[in-house]
Amino acid sequence: AKSSGKGRYETFQPSHHAAHLERERLLADLYQALDRQELVLHYQPIVDLASATTSGYEALVRWQHPTHGLVPPARFIALAEDSGLIVPIGRWVLREATRQAAAWQRPDGSGPRMSVNVSVRQFQHPSLVGDVAEALDRSGLDPRRLTLEITESLLVQDAAATTGKLEEVKDLGVRLALDDFGTGYSSLGYLRRFPIDVLKIDKSFVDGVATSPEDHAVIGAIVQLGQTLGLDLVAEGIETADELAALRGLGVGYGQGYHLGRPLPAAAHEEAVHQKAVH
Ligand code: C2E
Ligand code: CA
Ligand code: CA
Ligand code: CA
Repeated sequence: AKSSGKGRYETFQPSHHAAHLERERLLADLYQALDRQELVLHYQPIVDLASATTSGYEALVRWQHPTHGLVPPARFIALAEDSGLIVPIGRWVLREATRQAAAWQRPDGSGPRMSVNVSVRQFQHPSLVGDVAEALDRSGLDPRRLTLEITESLLVQDAAATTGKLEEVKDLGVRLALDDFGTGYSSLGYLRRFPIDVLKIDKSFVDGVATSPEDHAVIGAIVQLGQTLGLDLVAEGIETADELAALRGLGVGYGQGYHLGRPLPAAAHEEAVHQKAVH
């Protein structure tokens, strides 16, 4: 609690006090969540828009809390980052997602890709490269089938240290995606400087692609950029058939969103993984 200044009074407001307590309780529970095996991954399909086939899945973490039910990442990832718990949690996510992806590979060597979110603090932790290497090793997953999703906020931090680390990760053979592209502060120069393979076009642009000429033009420009720089594009948060049609028309390669498939437990995808030709 703050001991002086304006904050002192804020601290004693009952609503702030309650929110603080709630946060402390949630954090105490989060410390136990891994040991109690309360974290689960849901998987959302990433679809090849030209062929309408699933090319891979993004792993999205949820917390099956004993009393709060299924807690979304928005309610605990920031807490995990602040407390440093994101490192062991992220390590678990890497292990579990690569294990699942390996289980989904076919005898002929084809199978879905797997995307894993890596937050800034997790990326900057000294164990990151070892954690990725270990997850690949334990699972036996072909490194080219794993994509790590990072955000622009990472790229604007310590550029020299970040470049080195990104190169180290790339040396493992995995792919790198820039998540929420278009929402951060990064200049386009970053795209040349960093070894990025995929841009994930933020939902905020996708929302307007079928209705706003400006958003349509912005995505058109990103498509050209992607072609020039040799980057794959994934449009995020596709919710309607009109959005899907507009994105296909613009030549966006891949898409993700409730219209194409919601994040679901692995078991819900088994049939699709084993029936469709997934490349
Ligand atoms: P994100 O990486 O941008 O993931 C996309 C989010 O959008 C997911 O929310 C997904 O469920 C949601 N989404 C997908 N399609 C649609 C759509 O059509 N409409 C709408 N409205 N939403 C859609 P979710 O699962 O709640 O995750 C939120 C954020 O939490 C993620 O955003 C990511 O930043 C973070 N996160 C999730 N899992 C992990 C993880 O394992 N590690 C880390 N570090 N962060 C994670
Ligand atoms: Ca993501
Ligand atoms: Ca995103
Ligand atoms: Ca929309």
